[in-house]
Amino acid sequence: MSSAEEYRVTGVVIGGSNYREKDKLITIFSLELGKISALLKGVNGANSKLKYASQPFCFAVFELVKKGDFFIVTQVSAIDNFFELTENYDNFIEASYMLKLCNNYIKSGMVSEQLFISFINCLKAITYDNASAQVVVAQFILRFLDCLGYALDFSTCSKCEAKLYNGNLSLVHGGLICENCLSFEKNDFNVQEIGLKKQEFAYLKIINNTTPAKLKNIKVKQIVAGELLKTLKDYLGYVLN
Ligand SMILES: [Zn+2]
Repeated sequence: MSSAEEYRVTGVVIGGSNYREKDKLITIFSLELGKISALLKGVNGANSKLKYASQPFCFAVFELVKKGDFFIVTQVSAIDNFFELTENYDNFIEASYMLKLCNNYIKSGMVSEQLFISFINCLKAITYDNASAQVVVAQFILRFLDCLGYALDFSTCSKCEAKLYNGNLSLVHGGLICENCLSFEKNDFNVQEIGLKKQEFAYLKIINNTTPAKLKNIKVKQIVAGELLKTLKDYLGYVLN
């Protein structure tokens, strides 16, 4: 028998699909190993004790053995399943967006302690703090950009380096640019720039500088938060493509 390596990771289930008749292949975003796939054996059977570990948002300590290219889950100690998320449709949708972002765009082998901690804190803020899900997800996108190497600098224009009082998202310069640079860019038909209202820039800066536990204190009108989040999602979409 070949020797199997054993691992213990703390992670959240971010995806899964059925595998053979009774098994499930789950995707875990973990603190220690980043994004991994692991097999839950017999989980589709009637008496499986690991059933809850096949559900998205399951936050747990996973005992794993590595055999060849993949992991097999041997034991799961649940920490949380963020069940209350399902009680509010809007919160659930936004939390699911974070889940999909991790599932689709974290590359295998990419380990980021900072992003993992942000992910957990954001899930907690939405589930337990009654924080605006839109504000929370906006912060998660900022951390995600950071992790991809596209952190936004709220103090200086990424083109002319002038001090920023208002900022606009620029794909060409990979960050925030000032008003002057935006109007200059607008004359060039080949570039994509996203203008931000002064208020949106101010909120984004506050969201960026607030600890996750205090996100609940940020009160933004839902329509403003919704538009800001849409803009940010669009920008991230461009960056990812
Ligand atoms: Zn500028």
